[in-house]
Amino acid sequence: MYDVIIIGAGPAGLSAAMWCDELGLDTLVLEQASEVGGQLLWVHNAIPNYIGLFASNGVELRDRFAKHVENAEFDLWTDVRIEQVDLKARRIELQSGEKLSAISIIIATGIRRRQLGIPGETEFSGHGIIESAARDRDLFAGKDVCVVGGGDAAAENALYLAEVCPTVTIVHRGKSLRARQEFIERIKGEHCITVFTNAELQRILGNENVEAVEIQRKGAVKPFQMAVGGVLIRIGVQPNTEIFANQVDMDKLGYLEIDARQETSVENVFAIGDVSNPVSPTVSSATGAGANAAKAIAARLNSR
Ligand code: NDP
Repeated sequence: MYDVIIIGAGPAGLSAAMWCDELGLDTLVLEQASEVGGQLLWVHNAIPNYIGLFASNGVELRDRFAKHVENAEFDLWTDVRIEQVDLKARRIELQSGEKLSAISIIIATGIRRRQLGIPGETEFSGHGIIESAARDRDLFAGKDVCVVGGGDAAAENALYLAEVCPTVTIVHRGKSLRARQEFIERIKGEHCITVFTNAELQRILGNENVEAVEIQRKGAVKPFQMAVGGVLIRIGVQPNTEIFANQVDMDKLGYLEIDARQETSVENVFAIGDVSNPVSPTVSSATGAGANAAKAIAARLNSR
């Protein structure tokens, strides 16, 4: 039996693992991906706000974190598929059939991008669906593109694309963009960006690659089609908590509820990083939360 099993090896999970190791806890980290880093792997722009470290992208920061823990003694298993978790008993069964248990569990499963669920969204993945403007902008240079969403991510990506695309059409279901003011002002000054509010994307069309989108504007009798060569979707995120359903308190969006020590409603089960932090989903918060949970667990074990 381990002292601690950490589920997820993003910034929060890695930080918790480092702290658990330093505090002498026998620790196992389970990661479903083939490499550590979590969401850092999809950050293609600079991370300028992690104090003491400037990274030109997420992988660079991930590499710094990974290097920092390379001599630590915790176990790290990647490519792990969890079959089921019993939080109360703190038992985890893997799809491989292996059964694991721990005195404490730390959930660091993060969030994932929300999907629209419309025709074409998955079919054109890699064929005109733009994963990241910072990374793929040059591939779409000279093409008309469409960006879906009204938050910071949609606005920031639209601004990146506007540097190289003749037209960028933002399609947002709400009455007005809710991105931060700085982005909204910059969008107003970009003549190539058009914003359709009260509008929804209904289909992404094409043969081999994306060729058009179908947009329904509120109040219009029927949708219209617009030719585009790329579509970028940024409609928010959702926590990876399905596997813990009905075992632990969550808010209405599925984020795990925690106390000041990061402990969930189940004793000895902690949650750190974005999966329990819809308010401040930052790398700084995630690594700090990892330290909080490790310290809380060590203090409890020492007082036994
Ligand atoms: P947000 O949750 O901030 O915004 C999501 C947007 O998508 C909303 O405008 C929402 O519409 C819309 N939306 C949600 N679901 C649907 C749907 N089913 N169909 C159509 N539209 C939908 O998420 P973001 O991805 O923009 O950002 C995530 C987090 O990352 C935020 O905390 C953000 O501040 C942060 N971020 C910060 C950046 C920066 O500061 N540089 C850059 C990028 C992200 P509605 O308004 O109607 O609910």
